[in-house]
Amino acid sequence: MLNIVLFGPPGAGKGTQSEKLIAKYNLVHLSTGDIFRANIKGETELGKLAKTYMDGGNLVPDEVTINMLAAELDKAPNAKGFIFDGFPRTQAQAAALDSLLASKNTAITSMLALEVEEEELKKRLLIRGKDSGRADDQNPEIIQNRINEYNNKTMPVKDFYAAQNKYKGINGIGEIEGIFALLCNEIEQAI
Ligand code: ADP
Repeated sequence: MLNIVLFGPPGAGKGTQSEKLIAKYNLVHLSTGDIFRANIKGETELGKLAKTYMDGGNLVPDEVTINMLAAELDKAPNAKGFIFDGFPRTQAQAAALDSLLASKNTAITSMLALEVEEEELKKRLLIRGKDSGRADDQNPEIIQNRINEYNNKTMPVKDFYAAQNKYKGINGIGEIEGIFALLCNEIEQAI
């Protein structure tokens, strides 16, 4: 199986690149942000809970997120592989993902990290907020809090995969097609 963690701060381009990668490599896309938003729209209990965190730009608690991800993995028993987009966002989530995949006799192939500096991220998120309607993209304070959450809790996930020699940094600034080519190049080397 080809299992990719697509990593990077909010606004780095994970969603855009995921769409292209799933089409090329025939993978299942698991975006925890998208799954939470679908639950909010459907007014499920999970959605109501997640919303209280997401609206402020805070991470949803690990236990909630990990249980949801485990259920999503079980929904795709015949997948050729997965792209994890927006997950894992903490070291506890990364350890849980390793165990979940090991129980299915598979593992993460690589973590591909889109690197974009903070000023560029803020610009992109505010632009996205205008078209997407996402409340968390429209308020500079919430955006700053998401970036802080990323720096404090999510950055250490890089070390988790680096220790397994699976971390690959990719320059996330430039044309979408050019960045896609860099990602594909890393994947070709890993498989
Ligand atoms: P972005 O990467 O642009 O911030 P996402 O759609 O990935 O957007 O995430 C939106 C929000 O959903 C996050 O700010 C957080 O509240 C919640 N969320 C998504 N994935 C996770 C996760 N793995 N752990 C905790 N919270 C998450």
